[in-house]
Amino acid sequence: MTETAQITQVVDGVHFVSTALANWVVLTDGDDVALVDCGYPVHLPLVRASVRAAVGHDAPVGTLLVTHAHADHIGPAARLVAEDGTQVRCSPTELAGVRREEKYQVDIGDIARHPRLSVLRWTARAVRAGGLRDVAVAAATVLDGPEVIAGHRVEPLDIPGHTPGHLAYWLPQVRVLVTGDALVTGHPLLPDRGPQMLHPMFHQDLDRATKSLERFVGLDARWVLPGHGDLLCVGPDAPQITTAQMSPEVLSPSAPVPPLSISSLDEAVRQAGS
Ligand SMILES: [Zn+2]
Repeated sequence: MTETAQITQVVDGVHFVSTALANWVVLTDGDDVALVDCGYPVHLPLVRASVRAAVGHDAPVGTLLVTHAHADHIGPAARLVAEDGTQVRCSPTELAGVRREEKYQVDIGDIARHPRLSVLRWTARAVRAGGLRDVAVAAATVLDGPEVIAGHRVEPLDIPGHTPGHLAYWLPQVRVLVTGDALVTGHPLLPDRGPQMLHPMFHQDLDRATKSLERFVGLDARWVLPGHGDLLCVGPDAPQITTAQMSPEVLSPSAPVPPLSISSLDEAVRQAGS
C-alpha cells in the first residue's frame, strides 16, 4: 500500500500533515524538531519525509508529544526512539497505555457490532497500516505542564474521554490548537467534513469525551489541527494556504486553497458536541 500525505505550513515552525488515515504535526525551530503524534506504523517513511519537508533536510526527531496511545497516533514511535533517541511524552494518565501496560482501543468485537461495508473497508485498511501491531513505547515519560519544545511554548490540556489520558496541545504564541481525537473534522467513517466527534464506538467514555470539549471554550485559537480530517481555520477571514503533496520520495507544491473554516472555536465546540 502506498500512502501519501499533504503537508501545510500553518505558521512559522508549525506544519500540519494529513493522510487518509491519520494526521500529525511537525514543530520546528531550525533543526530542533518535535512531532505531535506520528500516524500508524506504516507511516514512518512519511513521517521522515514530513520532517525533511519542514526542515529542508533530514533531522532527528527530538520529542514526540502524544495525544493518546492509539496505534494510529504512536505507530512508529518505538522506531523513532530506537533510531533518533526521541523523547516520547504523554499525560501521566496515558503513560500506562503508551507503554501498553493498559489498552483502551476499539477491538474486533466492537467493530463486529457495526458490520457496515464502510466500517469493514476502513478496518481492513487500518489493519494493513499496522493497526494491530504492538506499538508499545517502554521509554515514554510524562509531560505534566507547559514547556518550550522545538521553540514553541506548548501547554498540554487534559481532554479525557476518547482515552483516559487524552491530551490536546495549545500553542498560545501562535494560536494553534492540536486536538488529537477529541475534536476532528473528518474520518473515513464520518459522512461529513467539519468540526465533530469521532464515531461513538471509538471513545472509551463518550459522555466524558463530550464534556471535555468545554475545555476548548474561550481559547483564542486561530488554527485547529485535528487528529483526523482537514486543517480548520478559526475566524472571519481564512487565508489561502499552500499545501504540498507528499510521498516518501516526492514533494510537489500545489496551488493555494482556502482551508476549512469556522467563525469561532466555541461554535466548533457546539457543533461537535451536538
Ligand atoms: Zn485516531
